[in-house]
Parts: sequence; C-alpha cells; structure tokens
Amino acid sequence: MKCIVCGTKEASIHGQCEDCYLKHVQVTGAGSIEVTICPKCGAFKIGNNWSKGKMEQQLSRKIAAHLESKDPNVTLEVENNSVVLKRLEGKIEFLFDIKTEGQKMGGYPMTVPSRILLNSCPTCNKISGSYYESIIQLRTLTAEYSPIIDKVLDGISGMLHKMHNNETDSFVSKIQPMKEGVDIYLGKKNDGIKVSKYIHDHYFSDTTRTKKLAGRREGGDFYRYTFLVRLFNLPPGAIIWGKDKTYILEKVGANSLTVIDPANEKRYDILQNDFNTGPYSYSQDNVESRKFIVVSSENNESTIMDNENFAIYTVKGKYQGEVKAFNYKGKFIVSLTN
Ligand SMILES: [Zn+2]
Ligand SMILES: [Zn+2]
Repeated sequence: MKCIVCGTKEASIHGQCEDCYLKHVQVTGAGSIEVTICPKCGAFKIGNNWSKGKMEQQLSRKIAAHLESKDPNVTLEVENNSVVLKRLEGKIEFLFDIKTEGQKMGGYPMTVPSRILLNSCPTCNKISGSYYESIIQLRTLTAEYSPIIDKVLDGISGMLHKMHNNETDSFVSKIQPMKEGVDIYLGKKNDGIKVSKYIHDHYFSDTTRTKKLAGRREGGDFYRYTFLVRLFNLPPGAIIWGKDKTYILEKVGANSLTVIDPANEKRYDILQNDFNTGPYSYSQDNVESRKFIVVSSENNESTIMDNENFAIYTVKGKYQGEVKAFNYKGKFIVSLTN
C-alpha cells in the first residue's frame, strides 16, 4: 500500500510512509539547554544543581522532559547513550524514538541548541578560599607523634578520595602536619562525622567532638566541628592500671586491648569504650620483653633459655621453638602474640 499523503512511498504506519508520519507528529525540543562546566574539576550543572559523573545521562533526562509532539498519542524517548554535547558548536545531538499504539520507530537524529558556560563550581571556589567546616585532629594517647598517625592517614586516604569523586561538595581543604600529629581540614561537616567514625571503628582510639560558632550563614548559626582523635600508641609490654589491678599490655585490637594480669597470668579484654571512660591509667615504662628458646615443655610448664646469656627460666604453658616473654619483676610470662 502506498502512503496516503505522498502517494509515492510505501506506507508503514497509520497508512503513511515514515517521512510523512514524522512530518505529521512534529517533534520539537526545548529551547536552548544551558550547561555549566567547572574547568577545574569537571563537575557540571544542568538546571540548578551541580553534579559529578555521567553528564550525558542527565542531559538525556533533561532533553526527554522537553521533547514534544503535535500528536498527543505518541510517546517520545531519547535513545540511551546517543547524547553528544558538541561544545564548540554549541549544540547537543541525540537520537529519539517514537512509540505509538504498540509500534516503535526509532533512531531519528535531532539537534537542540545549547549554551555551554565554563565556570568554577562552588566547591572549587571553597577549595581556593581554604573553606572548611570540620577538622579531624589526629593525636596520640601520649601526645607525641607516632607511626600510628601515618597508618591512619593511609587508612583514610582512599575514603577521602572516594568522597571527593562521588560528591560535589566533599573535599579536603588542607592537611596540616603538627609536631604532635596532623590536622585534616574538611570542606563538609558530615565528612568529619563519617571519617572520625571510621577511625573510631578501625583503630583503638578516643574521639571528642567540640563545636565552635563560626558566624552566621543562610540565616542560621554556622558551627565548625573539631574531632579530636587520640590514637592508642602504647606498645606491647606497657603497664596499664585498672581499679586495683596492674596489667601488662599484650595486644592492641581495633576495639579492644588484650592485657595480662601478671598475678595469675590470665588474659582480659578491655573494650575501647571502657578504657576511655573507666578507671584506667597507664605508664609509659614498658615491661621488658625478649626472645627465648624453648628447651623443654611438659604438662603445663616450659623451660626457656635466654638467647644471649643462656640463663634458664620456667614459664607457665606449653610452647616450642622460639617465644617472646615479658619479664615482670623477675617473673617470665610468654606473649601469645609475636
Ligand atoms: Zn508519504
Ligand atoms: Zn569544580
């Protein structure tokens, strides 16, 4: 059957050829679409909000919302992955599909004019202005710099990068090394909460949060938050005092300390929150520990020999090979962690 409109081409839809049908449905796009791109970080703004990630996906949604047809019975769709922003030519090219009464025809090219602006995004403006909303202060229990601080910095760097890549307003404003630790200035208050929680969950530490009025913003009081993180940095062998007991520190975990009561050689766990709030204190003098060779072991006793002076001692427990033992006032206690 020939097209009822032009009478020359084959009819394919509603008695018309494709060309005549397209003229009939009269697809129009919106006016010009404005896209702002930040030349510093690549974030973009379509409409009112800045975002990161796939610009084409958002453009496609924006275009689809503006596509119109004279025929109310058709639905118009923008084809996935067909959107191309031609920056220098100031236009957006894409392909659209027409759906009508169970029929779908597609792949029609269309162009809409686009105004493309280059403008620094609010986050890059904040970064260049050294803006910050929260500070993470990494310190240690003993108030001196220790390798645990570098370990934590390594541990959170992936998290900070990820936040910066995924969210338009997340950034590290400044990292300030100090004699006794490091201060990390963050552009977003919530990131301070997230990062300090991560540290508290992964490293034995104590966090105190304080807020300080830093002016007014958007009609309300604007506070800056400081998260003071004291990382536990005592080595195995450190003496810890409980209410009326003395313990030797054996092992530091993320959420608990393993300690030995030298009186009965039993192990106890001190939980992070109990250590921070309970009746604990500590000494920076460590119990000496050394390597020994196990000479013999039977029942629940072993004979160990000092590597250096060949002195022989008897310790509780069955061991073999080489062990590390604490010397607590002349009493030798084998450490179960090396
Ligand atoms: Zn025709
Ligand atoms: Zn930017």
